[in-house]
Amino acid sequence: MLRLRARSVHPVTAPPIHDGAVLVDVGGRIAAIGPNSQVPTPPEVEALEFPAAVLVPGLVNCHTHLELTHLAGRNAERDFVQWIRAIRTLKDATPPAEFSRAAEQGVRDCWAAGVTCVADTGSSGSPLEALARLGARGIYYQEVFGPDPAQCAASVAELTAAVERLRPLVSRRARLGVSPHAPYTVSEPLYRAVAEFARGAGLPLAVHLAESREETQLVADGAGPFAEALRARGIRVAARGRSPVEHLVQLGVVQPGTACLCIHCVQVDQRDVELLRDAGAAIAHCPRSNRAHGHGTAPLGAFRRAGVKVGFGTDSVVSTGDVDLWSEATAAGLGGEEALRMLTLEGARALGHDAEIGSLEVGKQADLAVFPSTALSRLLPPSAALLTVVAGRVVHRYIQAP
Ligand SMILES: [Zn+2]
Repeated sequence: MLRLRARSVHPVTAPPIHDGAVLVDVGGRIAAIGPNSQVPTPPEVEALEFPAAVLVPGLVNCHTHLELTHLAGRNAERDFVQWIRAIRTLKDATPPAEFSRAAEQGVRDCWAAGVTCVADTGSSGSPLEALARLGARGIYYQEVFGPDPAQCAASVAELTAAVERLRPLVSRRARLGVSPHAPYTVSEPLYRAVAEFARGAGLPLAVHLAESREETQLVADGAGPFAEALRARGIRVAARGRSPVEHLVQLGVVQPGTACLCIHCVQVDQRDVELLRDAGAAIAHCPRSNRAHGHGTAPLGAFRRAGVKVGFGTDSVVSTGDVDLWSEATAAGLGGEEALRMLTLEGARALGHDAEIGSLEVGKQADLAVFPSTALSRLLPPSAALLTVVAGRVVHRYIQAP
């Protein structure tokens, strides 16, 4: 059992508690929460005290690429289409053992930043292996690619094999989904086939969607650098006269009854926002990545007013350099309790996990993070967590340099 006391405890679903405490039971769930004087101290409990810190729910990172952790600082391409191409070259040059090390380091970096749940997309399978091996919480979406309709069957076969290989690693804590990557890497028949596969297998979907202007150009007009690159490979490209969001709605990827995490959603108008809401889709909002690549700003206010589920994601460290969610909230102009809610409960809602995590309530999983007390009051927050707990187990402790 574990008992944590802090200067303030922030349940998110209830007002902050000054000099509060949380008791975690042997099953890794929250057994009690309240003012320190009212939370029991059973014999032989491990009791930790943080008199100058805040105790909050563990942060939920709705978009990572943990298998790319080793590539931080390795792609200086300014042009997005070239950047995507460079990532592919770097990935092709990465041996499997390196993906494995990168994913494990990525999980540990998340823990050090107070992140206790990730929604990760990748193609190597290493992130799910790392989640399972380390006892971390998260969902890993296996990516599938294939811009040429002629590749569709081969891509589906590859995806099916990857899912079969990864399924034994799945647990309540380490989950699996599938991700048809993006409109410039996935053909129409492949989108349809993967959506059908996901529904049949009961797996959630994640898609990179409406990220760049070049993507909209491709989907709407059949033009621009993505279209040119596809034509150069002999792939037919047509103008569809619709937005990327409309495109995925028409293909049955974004639709009611199918859990779909839509990553980025920068290039959207009010109709797209309503389509996303009506489909029950969730957004992974990545303001720092969007800014770094010059995509613009996703309409967070419009999403929230429409009642679309939104969580924050740091995207790959190649884009943003770290997995610091507080910086994402700051980049979106949020601070204090509002930022905390978006990074915890709203992130958990976006992933459909809010019954288990995202707030500090009796009976919920004990996913917790302790930050220096400035985390909630300063706009430039310290990203390092003092302590991180997943399902009642301490997974990270900040050790001050001597
Ligand atoms: Zn991404």
